[in-house]
Amino acid sequence: MRITCPICGERSVAEFTYGGDATVERPALDASVEDWSAAVYDRENPRGAHVEYWQHGMGCRAWLKVERDTVTHKIGAVTLVGRHANEEAS
Ligand SMILES: [Zn+2]
Repeated sequence: MRITCPICGERSVAEFTYGGDATVERPALDASVEDWSAAVYDRENPRGAHVEYWQHGMGCRAWLKVERDTVTHKIGAVTLVGRHANEEAS
C-alpha cells in the first residue's frame, strides 16, 4: 500500500503510522464517563470506505486524514490536519 503525502509525495505505507479512526467525534469535556468511554474504546470495524488518521513519521512527520477502502486498501483523498494544515494554507 502506498500513501501520497501532500508534502512529500507518494511513499510506502512503511513510512506511516496508523493514528486511528478519523470519524470519531469527541464528546464535550463535561460529558459522562460512559460517553467518554464509548468515544475512546468503542470502534466500528467498517468494510469498505473509511477515513483514518495516519502520521508520516519517517518523512515530514505531518498528520494526515486518509480515505482508505478497508477491503481493497485503495487510497482516496489525503489531506493535512492539525498545525501542518495551517502551515500549508499560509
Ligand atoms: Zn510527508
